[in-house]
Amino acid sequence: MSYQSELYQQVILDHNKNPRNFRELTDGTHSCDGKNPLCGDEMTIYLNINDDGIIDDISFQGSGCAISKSSTSMMTTNLKGKSVDEARVMFEEFHKMILGEFDPETQEHHLGKLTIFMGVREFPSRTKCATLPWHTLACALDKKQETSTED
Ligand code: ZN
Repeated sequence: MSYQSELYQQVILDHNKNPRNFRELTDGTHSCDGKNPLCGDEMTIYLNINDDGIIDDISFQGSGCAISKSSTSMMTTNLKGKSVDEARVMFEEFHKMILGEFDPETQEHHLGKLTIFMGVREFPSRTKCATLPWHTLACALDKKQETSTED
């Protein structure tokens, strides 16, 4: 196994076992329910965005496979303190990276440790598990109630 995919496995296992920010935000400003019917992943993303457009707090609840859970957990830790504009740029980059249209190894990016999810490219049937939290985030930012990867 390559170093990259070994790291990928470790991070997935860690965040699946100990998901970060796994709780409901009762005083949040935005939320959305996301579903990935292909795998059965279901989650709610909660955000608290302040008047300056900064993500003060972000959390999630739900059930799903190890990839969706760890991807969501990693997303929340990386987005706290970021602006909504930065979050949208990261969504764009993450999505394109998973689809293989963006290469963070050669192109400038804002993804930080999220680049380990490049490993999911080796499992094409699981890409929607990795991108579900990001679609759900975009849905919450757009003030919609729910989204599905089948849309
Ligand atoms: Zn899944």
